[in-house]
Amino acid sequence: MQNCHNCEIDLNKLHYTDIFPIKENSFVSTQEFLTRVIQLCLNFINESNDRSTKVLRFMQPQELKKVFDFEIGPKPRNLELLIQDCASALYHQVRTAHPHYFNQLSCGTDIVSLAGEWLTAAANTNMFTYEIAPVFILMEHEVLKKMRSIIGFDHGDSILAPGGAISNLYAVIVARQKMFPEYKTKGLKSLPQLVLFTSEHSHYSTKGAGAVCGFGTDNVIEVPCDEQGRMLPSELERLVRESIDQGKRPFYVNCTCGTTVLGAFDPVNPIADICEKYNLWLHIDAAWGGGCLLSSKHRHKLAGIERGDSVTWNPHKLMGTLLQCSTIHIKEDGLLIETNQMCAEYLFQQDKHYDVRYDTGDKVIQCGRHNDIFKLWLMWRSKGDKGYEEHIDHLFEMTDYLVQGIKSRGDKFHLILEPECVNVSFWYIPTRLRGVPHNAERIQELGRITPKLKARMMNEGTLMISYQPLGELPNFFRNIISNSGVQKKDVDFLLDELDRLGHDL
Ligand SMILES: *Cc1c(COP(=O)(O)O)cnc(C)c1O
Repeated sequence: MQNCHNCEIDLNKLHYTDIFPIKENSFVSTQEFLTRVIQLCLNFINESNDRSTKVLRFMQPQELKKVFDFEIGPKPRNLELLIQDCASALYHQVRTAHPHYFNQLSCGTDIVSLAGEWLTAAANTNMFTYEIAPVFILMEHEVLKKMRSIIGFDHGDSILAPGGAISNLYAVIVARQKMFPEYKTKGLKSLPQLVLFTSEHSHYSTKGAGAVCGFGTDNVIEVPCDEQGRMLPSELERLVRESIDQGKRPFYVNCTCGTTVLGAFDPVNPIADICEKYNLWLHIDAAWGGGCLLSSKHRHKLAGIERGDSVTWNPHKLMGTLLQCSTIHIKEDGLLIETNQMCAEYLFQQDKHYDVRYDTGDKVIQCGRHNDIFKLWLMWRSKGDKGYEEHIDHLFEMTDYLVQGIKSRGDKFHLILEPECVNVSFWYIPTRLRGVPHNAERIQELGRITPKLKARMMNEGTLMISYQPLGELPNFFRNIISNSGVQKKDVDFLLDELDRLGHDL
């Protein structure tokens, strides 16, 4: 790989003072510096997509502190040294785009989305006003409107938030504003004791919102699930009545479409019936499962979603948009601004010479906001709706292939449940435990083996799959396929590699 782009420029002799913006007319050296950085990024992307390379080079924090120089010194560093800093940061970074990285709900690096992120960084604007981000603000309007129409909301309002947890918080505060508008000025004392409901398998952010909003985590009631991990509507109704009997005020139900661990879809329609009956806000947390809406084969899993009052949907998960990209959609227009508007006069002057409804800054709890739209818009343009449908269908086909692979390998693996999403939950079974009855004792032992196998995986660097306990279940693997680059041979590799690393445990 070539080292320099324009070899007449020696970056060893240059500092930040020799490039833009400090030095005028320094395009040639600025270009040399950036070209070298981009070359590093391209190498990283190339390696990440090369199946013969490792996913990570794991080091304990103490070792990494020794080999990586984190110190910021008093004197400027020359540009060649900065290139080396960039190279070593990437050297030690986990390759989340690698087709053998199955660890997280966000996997893979879509190249078009990456191009969008690079352009976003170059444009470096803030998303609070049309004044300083005209194209991106209109782009947000269009994409969010399209997403609402896919959900089945005819009107409404939406915003991009820094992650699904914050999107879920938005839903709670908007619901509170709708049902108890006096809260905004009078505060918590104006409210009865509010109670929220969410399933025992739901994301912890609903509980977090209960704490942040001052309702208390004791008032975020966990509703039991069936064996597939779906909320039981009969239990929801029982618990709603119970809290009414205790003199509390149920007001909000979080229904998860695609749970984080098992990938379960709560049944929206029966839950929506209960919400109507008791006048409760229905929020759909489709942070994970929302991408299924793009596939005619898989969208039925969210049947009834249009009955929700609000929906969280993270493009940075199943849709594969680069981190981060999360959306919150509210069915009733005007509520988002009513909830959050503070009318800061230095930003949101009402006498501007354009339609100030395009200034989104007063709808959010942040002030400044990162541009998360361009990388999604560009990626969606590259695929069209049809390409996105194929992307989602491919992830599910690979998931089916994995499930078949687990089943066809006899007693080497134990599938915990038939997946509804691309989460596959299983135990690996080492030689000594094969053919042994699958009773409580074996299950406990498999729970002890799982983290040991994960440690071997990390030290070897060839594969990454996450694990966790869940309720009564001890540690098990949760495999995620959300990288569109994953092929059948990668799934075969995954199963064979687990066996190679774990058979003697
Ligand atoms: C991932 C996830 C979240 C949180 O999203 P972040 O973007 O990580 O904040 C919320 N709900 C569900 C169901 C999730 O899977």
